[in-house]
Amino acid sequence: MADACFGIRGTARELPAELDRNFLIEPGDGRRFVLKVTPGVRDFEELDAQVAALELLARSELAGRVPAIVPAAGGEFLVRREMADGSEHWVRMVHYLEGLPLAHLSVRPTSLFEDIGGWLARLDLALADFDHPGARRRIPWDVRRMLELADSLDLVEDHDRRELVAAHLERFERLVAPRLTELASSVIHNDANDHNLLVDSRGAGGMRLSGVIDFGDMIHTVTVAEPAIAAAYLMLGREDPWPAASALIAGYHAVRPLSSVERGVLPDLISARLCASVLMSARSRVREPDNEYLLISEQPVWDLLEKLKMSDSDDGRRAVDTACSGVHSAQEIIAIRRRHLGHNLSVSYRAPLKIVRGQGQYLFDDHGRRYLDLVNNVCHVGHCHPHVVAAGQRQMAILNTNTRYLHDLLAEYVLRLTAAFPDPLSVCFLVCTGTEANDLALRLARAHTGRRDIIVIDHAYHGHSPSLVEISPYKCEGPGGEGLAPHAHKVSLPDPYRGPHRGKDAYRLYAAEVERAVEDIAAKGRRVGAFMAESLIGCGGQVVPPDGYLRGAYGAVRDAGGVCIADEVQVGFGRVGSHSWAFESQGVVPDIVTLGKPIGNGHPLAAVITTPEIAASFDTGMEYFNTFGGNPVSCAIGLAVLEVIERERLQARALEMGDRLLAGLREVQHRHDLVGDVRGLGLFIGVELVTDRESQAPAADEAADIIERLKDRGFLLSTDGPLHNVLKIKPPMVLGADDVDGFLTHLDEIVARVKT
Ligand code: PMP
Repeated sequence: MADACFGIRGTARELPAELDRNFLIEPGDGRRFVLKVTPGVRDFEELDAQVAALELLARSELAGRVPAIVPAAGGEFLVRREMADGSEHWVRMVHYLEGLPLAHLSVRPTSLFEDIGGWLARLDLALADFDHPGARRRIPWDVRRMLELADSLDLVEDHDRRELVAAHLERFERLVAPRLTELASSVIHNDANDHNLLVDSRGAGGMRLSGVIDFGDMIHTVTVAEPAIAAAYLMLGREDPWPAASALIAGYHAVRPLSSVERGVLPDLISARLCASVLMSARSRVREPDNEYLLISEQPVWDLLEKLKMSDSDDGRRAVDTACSGVHSAQEIIAIRRRHLGHNLSVSYRAPLKIVRGQGQYLFDDHGRRYLDLVNNVCHVGHCHPHVVAAGQRQMAILNTNTRYLHDLLAEYVLRLTAAFPDPLSVCFLVCTGTEANDLALRLARAHTGRRDIIVIDHAYHGHSPSLVEISPYKCEGPGGEGLAPHAHKVSLPDPYRGPHRGKDAYRLYAAEVERAVEDIAAKGRRVGAFMAESLIGCGGQVVPPDGYLRGAYGAVRDAGGVCIADEVQVGFGRVGSHSWAFESQGVVPDIVTLGKPIGNGHPLAAVITTPEIAASFDTGMEYFNTFGGNPVSCAIGLAVLEVIERERLQARALEMGDRLLAGLREVQHRHDLVGDVRGLGLFIGVELVTDRESQAPAADEAADIIERLKDRGFLLSTDGPLHNVLKIKPPMVLGADDVDGFLTHLDEIVARVKT
């Protein structure tokens, strides 16, 4: 059948199963499959729901950790087969998931329970938006239907046991049933017992949950039943059962925070599952009176039910509270920040978000709500990219030292990083932040030229150290600033939309300002040392300078013996789509390039790339040592980021998605006068809002309002620019076409409703 339906030929061995018949199929090439045969053909919806859920999970962070479906020769996942005896079955095939069932493990560390909790929470979050008619079915294992099982009470022969279950049911009726509608509900696995949880004990991090199998009981019910069910099974056979539950719940809560109602009912949901187990077993015993196995397997459940009844009813509540302590509400965190963090650190949004998890282009808040992250260019290859995470974790467990020892990863990384630059940029310094990179760039330029005077662009931001604040107009000329340092000279922001020069000569006129600044410095009896500029300008309002600007500016500075520094902290690593580096889009090669943000996908890593000549000038005898810069973990992560960019062809994707986004935004601009300008390259885009296209009066309040409304619809971005009226778009590069289209639809609706 495996061959006929799925084109997989191999040896077959039947595996134990309850309802389906499962066969392990081994083609002999190392691969293993499970052929699942479900008798009867009435349950199509139910099986289809399972298949759809597994399909969804195969595209989530849990890929490879739930059974992956193998399509049949015709592409379908469920095949209807008639047997020799005329009976019909549904047949499907999944990849065999490696791992040891938790039930077979004699030693079970608490850390494993936490891992299981976190894993189940991720599973629930991955299924949060999933629904299917086949998952909305009535089964006795639905904890919400607990009271319907009461009619089986009479089947429990032993009087004391009957009373025990009755007491638990009474509590359920009194304390849980009235609150069921207040609980979040979603599709859950609904049967995380220790035969369905697979463990990998060989990994470097100790015992970890490697996967979950058997989605046969999957239904749409109260989400909190998931950890309750898993806890119920983990507590069996333990002298003191609550610490096991507490560990599991802590792991779950850290990923999918439980609401106070969920926390309140959790202990009673655990008992409910145990009651369901013994009542279902009593029903089975009526059908199979001689099955001794039923009696034996029931014993630990009875013991636990007894224990839970005997123990102080506060034990469960305390265990849940302990598990969820250390986790603060958004309001509490705001209060703590106010008390213990400097106040000049604002949070985004009128009602700040508590983000608890990231995956790809998405962020998730403490209510499990998903947001498309359109503004974070740090998580360049996607939040928590598994390849990057694994590289960091692996190296962290092996070695983390500094660069005074020889290390393969440092060698490999600098080879790979410098290879990405045009000649003569071939020497790099590894540091930890964009500020450090730019600060070092200033030192390199001074060492090479022997001069301090620097030309910067109006509204530019280059870092938060004193050396950079005093040359960043965005900071030193803003609130609390002390003005530009005497050695800093600013030129106009080369903004073709709003700046002083527009039209086809704009590039020349902006570059001429740089020339004039060079002359002004000379007039003071000094000479220009450097020109520092972002190749596309971020804080200035996502500005794309007119073509030819950097060529002219660089020429003027170099003619006077100065060096040119390209700050690519925001815009490097393929973001502009057409090139690896934004300076390439202007046809120039800088003397010094600084990199940050995306380089480590969130890990504090940054770099300066320069020429051998400039590096030689900096070699004055004074050591340059950076404690953390270039450590093996950072190098492992930096390498992994480069690998993902290449493997997933993210630069090409930035171009494709950027063009799609720009085209869509231009349509929005066409429909709504509020949108004055749409500009950008690849996935670095600005949308400038104006209340009047003629006067270009900035629509700052409207921009802030749009940001809030987009957040309410699940899209995160922010505003920037000197007038705070530019929507800043610079998402992770893994953005998809559906993301772009969804965003455009919502933006269009929101802009249409904004009153100017
Ligand atoms: N340069 C630019 C262009 C930046 O945008 C930033 C950070 N926003 C920095 C430098 C400073 O980087 P960091 O915050 O990593 O020090």
